[in-house]
Amino acid sequence: MLSLILKGTNACNLRCSYCSLGKKEQVQMLGQKEMRNALFWFLEYAKARKQCKVSIILHGGEPFIVPAEQYRFCFQELREKYPGVEIRYSAQTNGYQLSEEHLKLIQDYKIRIGISLDGDKSIHDRQRRDVYGNPTYEKIMENIHILKKNAIPVSLLMVVTSYHQQMDFRFFDFLAKEKIPVKINPLYQSGEAKEHPDLAISGGGYGQFLIALFDYLIQHEVDLHVSPLEELLHAILYEDSPRGCNFCNSCLESFLCINQKGDIYPCGRFSDNELCKIGNISEGIWAEGNERIAEIRARRNEKLPLKCFRCKYLRLCHAGCSACSYHQDSENVPDGLCEDYYMVFEYLSGLGLMKYKKYLEDRKRKIQIILTGGKNEL
Ligand code: SF4
Ligand code: SF4
Ligand code: SF4
Repeated sequence: MLSLILKGTNACNLRCSYCSLGKKEQVQMLGQKEMRNALFWFLEYAKARKQCKVSIILHGGEPFIVPAEQYRFCFQELREKYPGVEIRYSAQTNGYQLSEEHLKLIQDYKIRIGISLDGDKSIHDRQRRDVYGNPTYEKIMENIHILKKNAIPVSLLMVVTSYHQQMDFRFFDFLAKEKIPVKINPLYQSGEAKEHPDLAISGGGYGQFLIALFDYLIQHEVDLHVSPLEELLHAILYEDSPRGCNFCNSCLESFLCINQKGDIYPCGRFSDNELCKIGNISEGIWAEGNERIAEIRARRNEKLPLKCFRCKYLRLCHAGCSACSYHQDSENVPDGLCEDYYMVFEYLSGLGLMKYKKYLEDRKRKIQIILTGGKNEL
């Protein structure tokens, strides 16, 4: 399915210390007609590629700074003009402000909500504060409860920084209890993150975090969907490729990004770099834009870095995120998270897999005991 990351604005009501957008000195927002035109352009592009299902991901800045009526107008226009296309909506929001109108929009269009929350209060509030420097955790938790009360599916996106080295993993028990799945991303060194070297995770820190978390979940029998652990484990168990763009060599066939100026990028992670622009909504994708896409794609395929070409985990990894490897200084260097990925693949294919199988057997045994009223205990 083709997905559009729609960055309707770069404005935001938070000032996270690692924000990839940098200082946000020039705040911009797509107007109502521009947004509609951007979405029409995308649907025509999808039509030309014979896609009858698309996904539109509201992103930013903070996507819910764009008025709900503006989205509603655009979505209504899409519904009328493309009745045969199934459109799935989702939003990646900081969850700090949730108006009645946005809540109604979310319900009406069944928008799936991803909220950025970096862990418990002690970690989250250190790195995700509002424009006045106030903590944001409590307010976001309140909004998560409002969404859940209204039966709106919520998942979390957590960015791992140096602060997570001492994280209390009991936070994940809480998420399991609340049935809130979580995706764990590393901190990328772009925008504001470059100004805060104290947040950087040292080589392998992201991988170590994922492994420690995996062990915790197994040991404490925490039943929680954690991405990318679940996708990787599934791929290892079934000798398949992991779901999720980071480990897929054709990721750019499934994503496009349109930003607040109506410029088109291969995906959201490229959109902080003007040099990666591939077109705009009035001219479409330029010929040189298509060349750039082909060049980026080649980095995970025919022009793989030698290290990846020889790597035993190439099937699981495909050289990592295209944007991360494209931004390396040399063509022959893989994604900067190579060490972390390798460490996780190695663990999940060996000791981690053994632990997981034992965990499943133990669980099965416990369930049997419950079902047979203890008769199979011997
Ligand atoms: S919520 Fe997102 S856009 Fe806003 S400051 Fe934080 S990282 Fe940047
Ligand atoms: S683990 Fe490293 S070397 Fe192996 S495929 Fe991934 S990025 Fe390349
Ligand atoms: S460039 Fe990276 S973030 Fe973008 S779709 Fe590909 S793997 Fe995903």
